[in-house]
Formats: sequence, structure tokens, C-alpha cells
Amino acid sequence: MTMDHALPETLTIRFPKGAAAPSPEAEAGIDRAAAVLRAGGLVAIPTETVYGLAGLALLPAAVERIFIAKGRASTNPLIVHVDSVAMARSLASHWPESAERIATACWPGPVTVVVPKGAHVPDEVTARGPTVAIRCPDQPVTRRLIEKLGAPLAAPSANRSLRLSPTTAAHVLESLGARVDLILDAGPCGCGIESTVVDCTVSPPVILRPGPLSAAALAAALGEPQAVAIAPQAESDGPARSPGQSTRHYAPLTPVEVVDSSAERVAMLLREGKRVGWLTTRGADPTTRRIASSPDVVVVPMPEDPAAHAAMLYAVLHAIDKRSLDTIVIDAPPDTDAWRAIRDRLARAAAPAPADGDADGD
Ligand code: AMP
Ligand code: MG
Repeated sequence: MTMDHALPETLTIRFPKGAAAPSPEAEAGIDRAAAVLRAGGLVAIPTETVYGLAGLALLPAAVERIFIAKGRASTNPLIVHVDSVAMARSLASHWPESAERIATACWPGPVTVVVPKGAHVPDEVTARGPTVAIRCPDQPVTRRLIEKLGAPLAAPSANRSLRLSPTTAAHVLESLGARVDLILDAGPCGCGIESTVVDCTVSPPVILRPGPLSAAALAAALGEPQAVAIAPQAESDGPARSPGQSTRHYAPLTPVEVVDSSAERVAMLLREGKRVGWLTTRGADPTTRRIASSPDVVVVPMPEDPAAHAAMLYAVLHAIDKRSLDTIVIDAPPDTDAWRAIRDRLARAAAPAPADGDADGD
């Protein structure tokens, strides 16, 4: 499918959770998106985590277009989005008990299971690997779209490779522009960070990427308190060992520093004549307020609750990245399970850019 437009159309679709059926207008918008996808086009879709850049997962030409639109390395596999556990099973050559437990307990929701791939799943989707990553998003517009298509959607985050993920339709338009054919706008994403990815091909299952669903929640879903391990690279700065785990990822253009003593670091940068953005949960502290009186600092008070923090993190980074500041300083979050996903994303945002441009994240 060739793109004959300058910029994609954005359709606003309201289909509130819990509503029995979409309005006729919403239904018509979802039909338009289905038609674009059936023709091999790309549609930006809302999910509860971040906006996705979707194409038909079983159509190799559409999948290839996703990689081109993002500038994504072909070695980095895509997550396949389904509307049901039944559709997920149809994509796997073997459906492990752990995947069944997680899917039954947590879907629709922000957790992706990695399982052995079915023979009909194109190699392009899985980066030629033997496994496929699958999730069912908790977003009624997108689930309805998949249900209408009767087919799964491959959908990585709807941004150019290595950049910040989009949590609004406006972020998608800014990052991808005419590289996407249509944008479905269902408002800001609720979770705001990418799904938890769990490898269910090993026992016990291993968290490859921390996300909104914590290790404790997964262990509860699996029914055995110890039954989930965390991949060492999920929180380290070391070299990537699993696909898509590039160290630098989810990054604004402005350099990011994640530090324990953020007030001291900000004060030092200001003394050096730098212009600084400061994301802090200690906005009300007298020291913060004193430093904040400098015209060279933009202070963004962040919530102390991890879910609320995650929900606004990327939107804040998108906004502050436009201020042409020298550095963004961010409070290091607590080293606890509840903050693990945010710590992971911030560590990747702060990692140095690869000298050879050879990162495989997106
Ligand atoms: P995203 O780019 O946010 O859609 O997330 C895709 C990520 O899911 C990749 O970067 C990998 O980290 C992970 N992933 C997808 N497919 C697989 C797979 N088959 N095995 C392991 N991890 C996968
Ligand atoms: Mg991504």
C-alpha cells in the first residue's frame, strides 16, 4: 500500500470501558481502521500502556512496513496483540501452563507472554526467532478492532526507534508523521509505560522487561509465590542479551541524569550556567522551592505513587524535551518491586547513546 497523504488523519474514538457497545460514530472509525489494516496499511492504536503502530501480524508486507516506519532493527521482535486467549493460543505451537495462568488472571492487561511460535506466524514478527510475544490489551477500541478483523495485530510502540514511547495521539503524530496511515485517538494511555514481558518458555517464567504488572502480581497469578524470576539484564546497564533490551531506549533528546541527591546535582548544574529540567517527588521541600526560584530551572513535581508517576512520565519527558534545556535531572526512584519498571525505563533513558548507532531498541 502506498501512502498518498502528507499527514495521517486522526480519528477521535470514544468507547468508554464498561460501555456495552461503541457508538455508531466510534464503530465507523473502527471500521475505517480495519479497512486500512486489511489493505496492508499501518494504524496507530491506543492501548492502556502506550500507543502502538499496528499492522496485520500475519501479513509479512505489513510487518515489514512497521520496521521501516519506526527505523527499527529487524533483530528486535514485535509484540502481537490479540482479543482473546483463544486467539493467543492459535499463534503458539505450544501454550504453556504458565502462559495460560497469566493470560487467564491478567488479560486484558499490561503483560506480554513469550511462547513457542506457531508455524504460520511470519518470521519478520519474531525477528526469525522460535518464540512469539503476545498480549491482549485492556483498551476497548483496540480490542474491538482486533475482534472485527478476526486477526492479530503486530504493534510496537508508535514512535521512531529508540525515542520516547507515545502516550497520546499527538505524540504519535510528532514522531511518525506521514509514516502512519491513520491514528485512532482514544485519549491518554492509562498505564503510560510498556507492558511487562514474561518468558513462558522456561520454568519458572522469567520477566524479560519489567512493566506495569509487578513481579508480585505475576507470582500471584501463577499461584506460586516464588514462581517468577527477573532476567539480570532487565535492570542492569550491561550489554543486551535478549532482543529489544538495548541499554539506551525510551530516551528524550535532552541528556538525562538519574541521581539520588537531585537537589545538589541541580544546584551544581545551575552554578555551571546550565539550564535544567528537574523531575522530583520532593517538590514541596524548602530546598526544592529555593532552587526552583532560579529562572534556569524547570521543576516538574512528580507523584509519589508509582502508577501515577508512570502514567505521566513520558508525557512530562516529551514536554520538557521541547524546552531546549541542557540536562534533565530525575530523582532515582526507590529500589522496590513497585518502582522496578520506572527504574528500568529511567536507566535506559539516561544511558549514553551508542557510538555506532547499533542499538536494537525502539
Ligand atoms: P515494544 O517495542 O514495546 O512493542 O516491545 C517489544 C519488546 O518485546 C521487544 O523489544 C522485546 O524486548 C520483547 N519481545 C518481543 N518478542 C519477543 C520474543 N519473541 N522473545 C523475547 N522478547 C520479545
Ligand atoms: Mg517501543
